[in-house]
Amino acid sequence: MTQTRRDFLTTSAFAAIAAALPRTGEAADEPIIDIHQHLGYSGRPDDVFLRHQQVMGATLTILLPAGRSVNTPSTHDGVSNGLQAQALGNEACRTFARSHQKGYRFAANEVPDVEGATREIERYLKLGGLLIAEQKFGVECDSPEMQNIYALAQEHRVPVLMHWQYKMYNYGFERFYKMLEKYPRVNFLGHAQTWWANVDKKYQDDEKNLYPKGPMTPGGISDRYLSDYPNMFGDLSAGSGLNALTRDEEFTKDFLRRHQDKLVFGSDCSDHEGAGEKCQGSQTIAVIRRLAPSKEIERKLLYGNAKRLIRKLP
Ligand SMILES: [Zn+2]
Ligand SMILES: [Zn+2]
Repeated sequence: MTQTRRDFLTTSAFAAIAAALPRTGEAADEPIIDIHQHLGYSGRPDDVFLRHQQVMGATLTILLPAGRSVNTPSTHDGVSNGLQAQALGNEACRTFARSHQKGYRFAANEVPDVEGATREIERYLKLGGLLIAEQKFGVECDSPEMQNIYALAQEHRVPVLMHWQYKMYNYGFERFYKMLEKYPRVNFLGHAQTWWANVDKKYQDDEKNLYPKGPMTPGGISDRYLSDYPNMFGDLSAGSGLNALTRDEEFTKDFLRRHQDKLVFGSDCSDHEGAGEKCQGSQTIAVIRRLAPSKEIERKLLYGNAKRLIRKLP
């Protein structure tokens, strides 16, 4: 059959629309809540960031602020200001979320051992911050300063998201169960290299081996925290989360089944594309869709668990 000019135009118009649609979040009616992104991330402009989230398919994004810039041991003399990624702070995240209310919310944060830290965090919780994040500082996880933050989280009924990185951020991972027991009404989100590497029982903490490969043995510290403590959750974001999900796919299927109510999608990627091999977030979404044992579990991981965990989410 010969194609009329009008048919041709219609077909190419549809092709153009189809090409413009987000590829990863192909089903427009399926929400994706991204609980882990940053503003100004490695200098990424706002318009590029907005497009990144749209192309990736995120329908709601939570912006995690940095603390203030200070030169203290807890910021490694300033090295980790801006969350070591030029991430912007509370006020910038709040302002951005206010002017993009449909798809953006924000968390509250501060360097835990500066004067007035909990006062600053509380101020932004009262202004609408949904959780305390991203806690990425060189402090003991059971220090008085961190416990002040856990107590504040308990009072405001918000989760605390922590970046675990051996000898760098949040020290004393193996003792953290004491905090899980002491603050049973605070929900904690584990994130980053040391959190994910320690799913594997055979892993030994090593600051030079933060992205271990190969088969996983169940029963590592993180795996046990998730099993044994109702208030411990896992943030699937970043290269560390993606590495943990892809290094042993048979393990992952079982891991996602066992912890189907405890794992939450986040992207934490700074690329400009929102798709393809540079974009960890879109790859994590694809892996979740491919390896989740059921559609029901996939939905829990991509948005259902986030809604349960973070009060006040629309
Ligand atoms: Zn992080
Ligand atoms: Zn990305």
